[in-house]
Amino acid sequence: MPQLLTGQKALVTGANSGIGRATAVALGRAGADVVVNYVFGPEAAEEVVEEIRSFGVRAYAHQADVAQEDQVVAMVARMVEEFGTIDVMVANAGLQRDAAIADMTVEQWHKVLDVNLTGQFLCAREAAKEFLRRGVVPEVSRSAGKIICMSSVHQIIPWAGHVNYAASKGGVLMLMQTLAQELAPKGIRVNAVAPGAIRTPINTSAWNTPEAEAALLTLIPYRRVGDPEDIADAVTLLASDLMDYVVGTTLYVDGGMTLFPGFATGG
Ligand code: NAP
Repeated sequence: MPQLLTGQKALVTGANSGIGRATAVALGRAGADVVVNYVFGPEAAEEVVEEIRSFGVRAYAHQADVAQEDQVVAMVARMVEEFGTIDVMVANAGLQRDAAIADMTVEQWHKVLDVNLTGQFLCAREAAKEFLRRGVVPEVSRSAGKIICMSSVHQIIPWAGHVNYAASKGGVLMLMQTLAQELAPKGIRVNAVAPGAIRTPINTSAWNTPEAEAALLTLIPYRRVGDPEDIADAVTLLASDLMDYVVGTTLYVDGGMTLFPGFATGG
């Protein structure tokens, strides 16, 4: 029986951990062949590949630093060679290097901007080139390709002590909207998913003690910390033709974190 992404080819960056891992698995379960990108940790990437192959689709792991142009170019070129093309690019890789502004080094600033913003630009550019070359293949998808940017609620919520991260995600919002405007006439859909607080290695200290979790829950009207699968399911749906008319949108998957919960009883 055809599934949401049967016959499509997807690449997920940062797919050996957390949200990227769950997303790569979900896309595979939905019928896509998947490239599992990682930068460190080949064993974890191979585990993801094995899980995806168990669904009867193809998968392989590819090491590349998304902040390095030559590595991103080579990653997408190999995918086109091995899978024939790309239909879905999930630009997910990201990291934090937190510090108060007075203590933040220019290395911390550049590292986060390079991976979280330049990395997404490079991945989107290389995917777009292939989408533009190939165009729409109606039996595969109504669109000529999908780019999904992994953003964050911090594309709109300021975050003291994390100016590099918040600036990178604010940049992702405008990157996504501008690319969506530019590429929509070519049949390419560009959108973003903005997670709230999700249990992954990036933010362990925010939820791994009862006190930390209780404090975090005050920011989440729906009163639960999210799981990577919450994001993975949103990405899968957004990548599918069920969402074919969704262009240039950010899908917030945040248990209501962006509803200004501090105003629930005041203001
Ligand atoms: P995570 O578990 O730490 O995963 C981050 C992934 O990014 C890892 O697979 C890591 O690979 C990869 N990565 C880091 N630098 C890379 C580079 N230069 N090139 C390629 N891959 C690289 O964190 P996560 O929570 O799943 O984060 C995934 C995305 O979701 C990020 O963009 C993050 O900003 C966003 N997000 C997360 C949350 C949350 O609450 N967790 C909320 C909002 C947004 P290695 O393990 O090989 O280093």
